[in-house]
Amino acid sequence: MLAIDPRTVLVVWAALNILFAAILALVGMQARKVKGVHQWAMADLLIGTALAIISQVSYPSTPFITVFGAILLGLGLGLIYSGIEAFEGRRCRYWIPALLASLVLLNNYVFALIYFAPKIRIFINFLLFAGIHGLCARALFVRIEQPLRTAYWLAGTSMFLIFLLSVARLINVALTPANEIGMFMASGINSAVFLFAALAQMSMSFAFMLMINYTLTNQLNILAATDALTGLFNRRSFELHANRQLAHSKRTGECLSIMMIDVDHFKQINDQYGHQAGDEVLRRLSALMQSIVRGNDYLGRYGGEEFCVLLPGTNEIQAGVLAERLRRLYEDLAIPWQHHTLHSSISIGIADTDGGHHDFASLIEHADIALYRAKHEGRNRIARFSDDAKQLEIAAAVKQV
Ligand code: GH3
Ligand code: MG
Ligand code: MG
Repeated sequence: MLAIDPRTVLVVWAALNILFAAILALVGMQARKVKGVHQWAMADLLIGTALAIISQVSYPSTPFITVFGAILLGLGLGLIYSGIEAFEGRRCRYWIPALLASLVLLNNYVFALIYFAPKIRIFINFLLFAGIHGLCARALFVRIEQPLRTAYWLAGTSMFLIFLLSVARLINVALTPANEIGMFMASGINSAVFLFAALAQMSMSFAFMLMINYTLTNQLNILAATDALTGLFNRRSFELHANRQLAHSKRTGECLSIMMIDVDHFKQINDQYGHQAGDEVLRRLSALMQSIVRGNDYLGRYGGEEFCVLLPGTNEIQAGVLAERLRRLYEDLAIPWQHHTLHSSISIGIADTDGGHHDFASLIEHADIALYRAKHEGRNRIARFSDDAKQLEIAAAVKQV
């Protein structure tokens, strides 16, 4: 068995906690939008200070060390849980650290200062440690998308390991005669518990950093992929998704449609009511589109007041039904703006992959040709590229004759 001096482990562990507290505080200054970082930084600072104080415990315990060590450790461990709650977007229940600190304090005060009973005291301490770490592990083993899941599970596993070590120590204390129990016995399971709990707690702090890092990366990815005004995919990410879907439809032979939507006389709205009113119209149109497309359709803002909808598993006729519904709903949409009510219409061009065109450029070009015709024929209408294609074929045939 390991025979490492637990006091030495405690001092190193305390120093590492304080170092992590400083790093987390620095991370928190940059990652302002990520919740929970401040709770974790504060938790590490409290735990580090508590461990430094506890490493100085001697028998009989001095009241100062017992009282402050217990309060800081209880608060720190509880705050880790509050940090997880905040990180996951839940409301922090600060009564949990307060309750834990009170229980740890009560236990250590009574069984160290009033009635000296180290066996009971250590048993209850580890019962409380097992409880809070079990709670943290449970909060971390949740369904969440990758890569965040890896970080969550690393933190959760670390917590679960500390839970198991606490349970092992509990059983060990229960089976050991009272006169052989000491908090800093450099033997057997005691050294192992201290060492592995320190390592697990360090890996938990690393996992928290990973959780913050992945969350920031996710937020940046979303920012880079979406249009700020409407929240729809921007042109680049829309093209990316479209190319992926087109490759898929080519493999499976499934039909895919694209709709190109353009607001009619949009310039007039800007000129008459101002650019802000124009922005509001674009937002309302986006919201309307979002409310009527299916979950696996893609919506993108392609240009200023031009939008694209990608409809996997849909042909031109089916897309036409949706487009007509959208056109009508938008026509009836009254947009309140200051003291006015804005009304406008849209024109929609539709194309699909049925003619064997599985590349994005030609699909967009076809939808654009249809849109141009819809505009040309008077706006506020939909047009399908297959009709243009027929016209083009007739024109080509006439030329040949
Ligand atoms: P048409 O019926 O032929 O489509 O006429 P239109 O006036 O809509 O055509 P045009 O494409 O010339 O006008 C587009 C206008 O959209 C020009 C530009 O100032 C405006 N625009 C582009 N992006 C934005 C934006 O983000 N917000 C606002 N408010 N206006 C924008
Ligand atoms: Mg327009
Ligand atoms: Mg336009």
